Parts: sequence; C-alpha cells; structure tokens
Amino acid sequence: MSTELNELFERNRQWAADTETREPGFFSRLLKQQTPQYLWIGCADSRVPANELVDLLPGELFVHRNIANVIVPSDLNALSVIQYAVDALRVTHVIVVGHSNCGGVKAALNNLRVGLVDIWLRHVQDVRNQHRAFLDRLTPERQVDALVELNVLEQARNVCRTTIVEDAWQRGQEVVIHGWVYGLHNGLLEDLRITVSKPQDIEPAYERALAALKQRFVPAETAETAAD
Ligand SMILES: [Zn+2]
Repeated sequence: MSTELNELFERNRQWAADTETREPGFFSRLLKQQTPQYLWIGCADSRVPANELVDLLPGELFVHRNIANVIVPSDLNALSVIQYAVDALRVTHVIVVGHSNCGGVKAALNNLRVGLVDIWLRHVQDVRNQHRAFLDRLTPERQVDALVELNVLEQARNVCRTTIVEDAWQRGQEVVIHGWVYGLHNGLLEDLRITVSKPQDIEPAYERALAALKQRFVPAETAETAAD
C-alpha cells in the first residue's frame, strides 16, 4: 500500500497538464488575480463538489463548505469567507446550497449522536424545532428532504442578516443572496427562490419561499400550516 498517495499526485500532474493544453497560459493568468462572481456556501459532503457540478474552472467560484451548510453569526471562519468574498472580491452572488439526503440534516432531525458534530448540528435542530408542526405532518423520509430545504432558507436568511451583507447593501453594492438545493439522485440544482438583493426583501422573499416549500410537501394543508 502506498503511504504517499502517489496516485493523487499523478492525477494532479495530469490535470494540470490537460488544463494547460486546453487553455495555454491558464495558470499564469490565475496567478495574477482571482475574480469570481459567486460565493458558494455548501455542505462538506464529498458528493457535492461545488466547482464540478456547475462546471466552473478554478478562479470562478469562491467556496465555503461545512457540515450541513450552516451560517451562524458566531462562526468566525464562515464570516471571514463572506467578508472577503463581498468586500474584497466583490462577488455579486452568494449562494447557499443544501443537498438531498444530507447526513448532517438527517442526524439533526433524528437526534443521532455522532460526536463533536452534534454540537454544530444544534443549529439545524433549531431549524427543525422552529418548523416542528409542519415536519410532523410528513413521513420520516420526506422530513429529511423538507428539513434540507428549510435549512437552506434559514441559512440564506442568516447570510442576508450578517452585517457584511447589510453594509454592502447600505453602500449600494450589488449582492444577491440565493438558496438552492442539489439532488444527489439526479445531479440537478433547484432554485428555492429565496432571492434577496435588498434588506426590505428579506422577509417577503423568505415567506414566499417558505409557503412554496410547504405547498410542495403538503399541497392540501398549506393554508393551515402557513403560520407554523
Ligand atoms: Zn450534507
């Protein structure tokens, strides 16, 4: 057994050579600057590789990933990424991306004990508890998918509420927040339509997206559950 992971270095050399052949001067151009238009905030899950699934090259996507794509105001790491992306790189779009069958969301939903990550997933449990009445109407399998989407809406709203995004809007900088979900089963992204480009849109966009989400999961009971 190789302990040096030679295969990965070999693949890397091949990738670098192929990239340079396809686009001569690719790396020397990137060396000078990166000008991504998008910040991707996604799950750390290995099946959801940000660049690959939107077919973007190095330099085109700024990425932050953690378990269950959570953004909380106490996370210096995530906030630093958002701050650098918005203030220095001046990305136009910040996209929170959840994915179907998310292990983190599933663990949070079912109170599974995994380890240190349990503490992190308390943030997703807060989302679960907030929407408990709605989730209780669904089958266990549908609950996972619903909580994945609810979590995207909550985390996208959390991004909107950071002082970083508030300040950018305040000074007239164009920053649009989005919430998407990725289907592990078909490789497709879906827009949950919480799209926010100014402070006064946060709550209406959130409420509209939440109502649409509930409509998808329990069409007949939307009117009753809208207030959950
Ligand atoms: Zn996940």
